[in-house]
Amino acid sequence: MSNSKNTPKYRSAGKRSGRLSEDEIKQNFSDMHPPLSASQAYIEACRCYFCFDAPCTTACPTDINIPEFIKRIQCGNLKGSAHKILEQNIMGAMCARVCPTEELCEEACVRNTHENKPVAIGLLQRYATDEVIEKKVPFFERKPPTGKTVAVIGAGPAGLSCAHRLASFGHSVTVFDKNEKAGGLNEYGIAAYKALDDIAQKEIEYILDIGGIEIRSSAQLGVDVTLDQLRDKFDAVFIGVGLAGVNPFEIPGEAVNGVIDALNYICDLRQAQRKSDLPVGDHVVVIGGGMTAIDIAVQSKKLGATEVTIAYRRDRTNMKASEYEQHYAQIHDVKLRYCASPKRILSKDGQVTGIEFDVTEIDPDGNTLTTGKTFQLEADVVFKAIGQTLPAEQLGDPAGGLAIEMGRIAVDDERKTSLNNVWAGGDCVVGGQDLTVCAVQDGKLAARSIHDYLQSA
Ligand SMILES: Cc1cc2nc3c(=O)[nH]c(=O)nc-3n(C[C@H](O)[C@H](O)[C@H](O)COP(=O)(O)OP(=O)(O)OC[C@H]3O[C@@H](n4cnc5c(N)ncnc54)[C@H](O)[C@@H]3O)c2cc1C
Ligand code: SF4
Repeated sequence: MSNSKNTPKYRSAGKRSGRLSEDEIKQNFSDMHPPLSASQAYIEACRCYFCFDAPCTTACPTDINIPEFIKRIQCGNLKGSAHKILEQNIMGAMCARVCPTEELCEEACVRNTHENKPVAIGLLQRYATDEVIEKKVPFFERKPPTGKTVAVIGAGPAGLSCAHRLASFGHSVTVFDKNEKAGGLNEYGIAAYKALDDIAQKEIEYILDIGGIEIRSSAQLGVDVTLDQLRDKFDAVFIGVGLAGVNPFEIPGEAVNGVIDALNYICDLRQAQRKSDLPVGDHVVVIGGGMTAIDIAVQSKKLGATEVTIAYRRDRTNMKASEYEQHYAQIHDVKLRYCASPKRILSKDGQVTGIEFDVTEIDPDGNTLTTGKTFQLEADVVFKAIGQTLPAEQLGDPAGGLAIEMGRIAVDDERKTSLNNVWAGGDCVVGGQDLTVCAVQDGKLAARSIHDYLQSA
């Protein structure tokens, strides 16, 4: 499925000569995995064995009946296929683009062997859902209004999935979000080449079409409204606020121009009318080892940075980004330096010029130790991609004691918090995987539990 028109235009190290044009950047940011044609989809669907105990379905956090939706594609029943997906995962179109399928359904696929490759479940899911979302085919009807009201805080995948399911049960849902646009990281965080053609907003329109959901934008918990007020005014509350804080960097010299929080830059990138207007580093160093580090590094390269290096303080096997993602960065000409712990920022006249690292090693107990050796990398931009946190102020002042464990909201299997009419899900709760599909599932589970609670109240 390679497309010569999509061949990226990168500069090689040491050859910086002006910016890439808007057209070159557009080409670089074309679809990460172009969609399947009808005949490609049919051929791919025919590769499925329609396993009885489908391990792909077991591996899907939202329990999509994968063989069934693939069978429907094979039979030419595209709407039926999309229905099978969306009844379990209302964000099936975004998840088809962003799910790390190589670690979930496709890893589990019985065709995933040394001699063969797994069925392309992600691409088939996209094939089935795209038209339905585009044409707004109405699958889901709202039950008659129950008179019950629910406040959802956060219009990300967790909040919107919860809101949609609650609305389908007939409850009235008000979604509060501090941002102007709904979508959470689907709109402001996911790499631009995974979410083309405004798919995040199209999916939200589809979700809202069910009715019974009001979105209040620029409404922030802790600033415009408190949890206590919402608990008084609504019958139940769902918190899906994600993680708005950033882990502290805390190395000497970081308060200079050019040391940037990766997520802020990614957000600007996703919202930019013209990507060619964005400032681009020449020698870019990314500190971190997760998905955000990979995304900012690859996107910097696609914007035209000359040299991009990801520096991670532990070894390859400890990196949160999967082997697949690390490989993806490398084929985009991003260098990966393992066992490199940032020691100090180098700067001149208030502008970053480089960064010094301690060389580390991992001892048999898994501890990271410095070796006494150091090295330096030249940099005019250093991106911090060292993980996010849930700062106390993001929740305002949750009187009544919302239990927090390991820095996130504690919930039970139904996503109930320690407060009697409050549920939570997505990245802000403890024990999750910090994936879009897991946030969608949390919202779904919480909605079911809230519905049971409202019926018995
Ligand atoms: C750079 C990056 C790339 C990623 N790429 C992928 C990927 O490719 N695949 C994947 O599966 N996952 C990816 N993830 C993870 C995925 O985006 C998250 O797991 C998912 O978005 C979590 O959904 P959520 O609804 O819990 O939170 P969010 O998406 O963060 O949404 C939270 C919402 O709450 C709102 N909010 C926050 N605080 C308040 C407040 N006090 N008051 C009111 N509203 C508030 C926010 O504005 C936001 O709209 C990525 C994450 C990042 C950071
Ligand atoms: S495991 Fe693979 S072959 Fe079996 S049902 Fe799932 S996608 Fe089809």
